[in-house]
Amino acid sequence: MKRNKILIVDDTKLYRQSLSDILKQKYGILEAENGKIALDLLKQNRDSIVAVILDIVMPVMDGFEFMEEFNTHKEYKYIPVIVATTRDDVEVEKRCLALGVWDFIPKRFHPDIIWFRVVNAIRRSKQHILEYDALTGVYNQQMFFQKTRELLDEFPNGKFAFIRFDIDRFKMINSFYGAREGDRLLKYVAGCIRKILKSYENYTFGRVAGDIFGICVQVKEPKEALKIAQTIRERLKEYENLHCYLETSAGCYMITDKEMDVSAIYERAVIAAGKCKGQYMQHEVLYNDKMGEALLREQVIINEMDQALANQEFVVYFQPKYELDEYSPCGAEALVRWRKPDGSMVSPGEFIPIFEKNGFIIQLDYYVWEKVCQYIQGELESGREPEPISVNVSRVNLYNPKFLESLINLVEQYRIPPQYLNLELTESVFSDTENVILNAVDYLHKAGFTIMMDDFGSGYSSLNVLKDIELDVLKIDMKFLSKSRNGDDGRGEKILEAVLQMAKSLNMPVIAEGVEEKRQVEMLKRLGCNYIQGYYFAKPMPLEQYRKLEKKSNK
Ligand code: C2E
Ligand code: CA
Ligand code: CA
Repeated sequence: MKRNKILIVDDTKLYRQSLSDILKQKYGILEAENGKIALDLLKQNRDSIVAVILDIVMPVMDGFEFMEEFNTHKEYKYIPVIVATTRDDVEVEKRCLALGVWDFIPKRFHPDIIWFRVVNAIRRSKQHILEYDALTGVYNQQMFFQKTRELLDEFPNGKFAFIRFDIDRFKMINSFYGAREGDRLLKYVAGCIRKILKSYENYTFGRVAGDIFGICVQVKEPKEALKIAQTIRERLKEYENLHCYLETSAGCYMITDKEMDVSAIYERAVIAAGKCKGQYMQHEVLYNDKMGEALLREQVIINEMDQALANQEFVVYFQPKYELDEYSPCGAEALVRWRKPDGSMVSPGEFIPIFEKNGFIIQLDYYVWEKVCQYIQGELESGREPEPISVNVSRVNLYNPKFLESLINLVEQYRIPPQYLNLELTESVFSDTENVILNAVDYLHKAGFTIMMDDFGSGYSSLNVLKDIELDVLKIDMKFLSKSRNGDDGRGEKILEAVLQMAKSLNMPVIAEGVEEKRQVEMLKRLGCNYIQGYYFAKPMPLEQYRKLEKKSNK
């Protein structure tokens, strides 16, 4: 049986027969003598039917009734329906077109004409599947970008805005109300955009991905573009189906250089949209060059990173940790810096997030660990007993299949007992307590490493994580506690006290980080905190300086 089938719906056997004769060399043929049987056959063969040839006047269910039912099935949307007519009847033809019929063939069958009409209709429908988003019926990303290109080329002197927007927390809608509701909402949005853009002359729009839509439209001024986005958002509020508050984030970019790649144009709209996220009351943001500069800086960093690593421009600083009873140093945290050839220092806050995005952090972390291993080895070989050094392990590493192996190889290569190298994992790593992470932690424990949970309290998952994973040390950043919005009314202290108590009952030592003031030191001491790290005692320092400090305290 041929895979692609044509469904012939006609009550006259003779007609069915002659159509079948024309088409059966290439297609499988299904026959139905009325609309009802046809619908049943469609249901059973919906993946293999590529076209329907339909008679209008039939008993039981006629062609019009068939079309009405057919149109309620979105999965049939791209199956072309061709109506076979006996005579020219404008009224019938109009009604058919209104019902979404693709084409007509005369009932005095001429084999070649039938053949071409059917094949063309099938080809057009395949094209449609390639160009349109199946759910919403608007252009898909590829086609939308292409149409944007054509639009910009067609009006070289026009002023165009590009708008990219999405629905805030769309994933939540999907998971609370189900994918069907999510789909409905997306279709509604597509309909809104279509309506709003009707009053414009030159535009195109499409669904870029998921809940992201894009619009390219000729406007007089930027305000107009923002207004379009705002109107969409307002329309969304009128959407009654869900009993929740729908908001959008829109980024608008006024296209200045028409030669620019559409993907670069899109990128700018994405940057602008990114400025809305998490910002209360700001839903439409116009791109400006400052935002672009940040991107440019990012690009510069990416261009320079490999060379910088090879040139040893990344240097490891050490920030001592202190034991609170005696104020004696007890190890340090290794923190990376980027010393540019001109002597300027770039702080990790600027480059780590970028490297986490592009994966370079895996190489950089390894580099830092190796530097720390070299230091520890040097100490051990000179007969000194170094205090442990903790290194940061980016979350990206947890998804790196070579992570465990490369770390273990490293300490073996430098013959370092693992108790000298502690690992700091930020709390957000554990937000998804997948097996990968549980297993990695377990493995590292068995290998003898001490694992610290960094930035405890800054994420969302802290308490659950403590239940699920056995970690060795908690690090709390004082910044999270001291910056209370309405002045310090003692709430921070109470939270800290509770955390310290909990840690104690779990037998977990606590390191307070970011300690800057004497007041904090005294409080921490009173509350029974074990260790501190912070500017109050020492800032991160180059290795040489740290060495001296270590020597002094060993005396
Ligand atoms: P972190 O791991 O939470 O490191 C502590 C940060 O707090 C460091 O910033 C440190 O200099 C700073 N700090 C310490 N005491 C104080 C204080 O008293 N007051 C204030 N205001 N800050 C204090 P730094 O060195 O800029 O590092 C920032 C972040 O970059 C680190 O946060 C860590 O997440 C990341 N990072 C640094 N080095 C590495 C590395 O080698 N690998 C990875 N994956 N991340 C690193
Ligand atoms: Ca850290
Ligand atoms: Ca930290």
